[in-house]
Amino acid sequence: MRRKIIAGNWKMYKTNSEALNLVKKLNIRLKKKPAKKSQVVIFPPFTALSSISQELKKSKIQVGAQNLFWETEGAYTGEISAAMIKSTGAKWVLIGHSERRQYFKEEEKVINRKIKLALQNKLKVILCVGETLELRQQNLTKDIILNQVEWGLKGLKPVHLQDLVIAYEPVWAIGTGKTATPNQAQEIHNFLREILDALVGGDMGQKMTLLYGGSVKPENAAGLFSQPDIDGALVGGACLDPVSFSKIIEAGEKTF
Ligand code: PEP
Repeated sequence: MRRKIIAGNWKMYKTNSEALNLVKKLNIRLKKKPAKKSQVVIFPPFTALSSISQELKKSKIQVGAQNLFWETEGAYTGEISAAMIKSTGAKWVLIGHSERRQYFKEEEKVINRKIKLALQNKLKVILCVGETLELRQQNLTKDIILNQVEWGLKGLKPVHLQDLVIAYEPVWAIGTGKTATPNQAQEIHNFLREILDALVGGDMGQKMTLLYGGSVKPENAAGLFSQPDIDGALVGGACLDPVSFSKIIEAGEKTF
């Protein structure tokens, strides 16, 4: 059985005290209704990673960073290394989120370097892929996804893939309230499994955890989770509200 994951990307929200407040509320809810079928991972801003990891020491919720730099260390003002992230207690990192691709011009080569560095440093990775509305309208969704996965996996051995999760996040669905329908999401998840089988072999398509992201809410989560190739969600906006996020986790408990 593939590992199920419900992840929350906090983006650039929450100061340290706000972050602690949110995570305490989430923890209380999850103590009452524990996530038994899925691993919950939260991605707060860098500044809150240490305090949140400390707060969650006895909890099953895991913590990750939203980005990392592609070199081990050096004169790179303002950047954060894999070792620094690990030293906070975080175990995961998000790579290739569409907001990084769009606003920080992160290209496939850079994303591939970041993935390799993260995995070398024993950080688990969620690689985000997805098409813009323009590309979908031009019928290029599958071409762009194939290209992003091919680049993401370049130079990786099958053994590395046990620490890699792919999140399909159509750019047109992120923060817009327009979710892909369960069928649209399922079609691309199934395609991702075909790509993995073709690129890696060894039944990797069936082994890898694949998440859907893009306006996931308590109301649409169960429909997405009931699809055979969707193993969970990467949640943005709704994860900033502990009630909504825990309801999404509960939808997983009922559906997985
Ligand atoms: C995200 O940031 O990865 C995301 C999916 O955001 P939202 O849920 O707000 O669309």
